[in-house]
Amino acid sequence: MPSPPVASTTPPAPRGVTVPSIVPPATPAVVPAPASSALRAGELFQVLRDGHARTRAELAEITGLARSTIATRIDALMACGLIGPAGEAVSSGGRPPSRFAFSASSRVVLAVDVGATHVLIALTDLGGRVLDESRAAIAVSVGPAAVLDLVVEQAKHLLERSGRDVRELAGIGIGLPGPVEHSTGRPANPPIMPGWDGFDVPARVQESFGMGGELDVLVDNDVNIMALGERAGFWPVEENLLFVKVATGIGAGIVGRGLLQRGADGTAGDIGHVRLARGDGVLCRCGNVGCLEALASGPAVAAALKAAGVRAESAEDVLDLVRHGSVEAVQAVRQAGRDIGEVLATCVNLLNPSVIVIGGGLSAAGEYLLAGVREVVYQRSLPLATARLRIVQSMAGDRAGVLGASRMIIDHVLSPDRIGALVADA
Ligand SMILES: [Zn+2]
Repeated sequence: MPSPPVASTTPPAPRGVTVPSIVPPATPAVVPAPASSALRAGELFQVLRDGHARTRAELAEITGLARSTIATRIDALMACGLIGPAGEAVSSGGRPPSRFAFSASSRVVLAVDVGATHVLIALTDLGGRVLDESRAAIAVSVGPAAVLDLVVEQAKHLLERSGRDVRELAGIGIGLPGPVEHSTGRPANPPIMPGWDGFDVPARVQESFGMGGELDVLVDNDVNIMALGERAGFWPVEENLLFVKVATGIGAGIVGRGLLQRGADGTAGDIGHVRLARGDGVLCRCGNVGCLEALASGPAVAAALKAAGVRAESAEDVLDLVRHGSVEAVQAVRQAGRDIGEVLATCVNLLNPSVIVIGGGLSAAGEYLLAGVREVVYQRSLPLATARLRIVQSMAGDRAGVLGASRMIIDHVLSPDRIGALVADA
């Protein structure tokens, strides 16, 4: 069996170009700058979200608030259960001061990743830590009622197994494999999801839990939540990140200045249907010819191998062949990487991300796919745009979706406004 060629992953150095320093000035990464005395309980809470225990005096120093104000707000946050006592600091004489920390386990989040043929459901705490999870096989094409009933049944089972009550639920985040109008949680003309168009996903889930609007249910497309999950778990300080899912389809989730960029109608990052010159005559499932997805998705690579006489019916077959050192499969995957790289080179010039994460099923081919992407991106993008750019494989793997669905809820329910309102009501 011939061994596969060694992938070259070193980007070419920019020639004859002096790259100016683009390293930002040093700023504290976590602790916000001292705010005015108008800093509310919700904003004080954001300081504690990093999980570090602090004394009232330390919080007063960080926020610039009077100690008496800190004490009142600490009491309010304790009453909500969002922070709790975390031992005592070393005393400088007299009674040692108490410390307080974020109680990430005070409430739980259900995170749901609906794929084309399966669902993955995770129960996490408010820090995004996965406490338990469950998988089930179901085709999204059977329609929203059957899929969401299964999701709710599994979700209730997870709560029960973890000994958590539905009243401890902070919210439910759901990722769907198609375009979603995030503001309403309704899918918008999803191509592989018959019956889902315009379906009120949040209302159905809230009803199934016997709760109305008081249960937060947020929905987004799977690539967007994967981008959130990968960033939250592995790149928390990167403000500009592009997550590319390479699976049955190809799409990208864009994080710009730390926020998910959905565009005017939620279709930002839909790179699967960009036309490539190499694709002349290759028909795409969208009806056009030469789309990236028709050349470089998992099924497209399998079809290309099959046409060349290699036994490959699916993306899994392609990955198996790569693992067994098939030169044809390695070359086909690398070519898919180059095709993806051609579109990403344009994205890099347009968005200037500092990290591109390649995820989705075909990314399990690892360095072979990445090598093709890097080869073209570093060659075609402007040197300054690639000076600090890293192109890496997803570290969250198939949990990127649930990690992101959880993060979407956490960022919503723990936002300064929401915490401020909660504390005011307490
Ligand atoms: Zn297409």
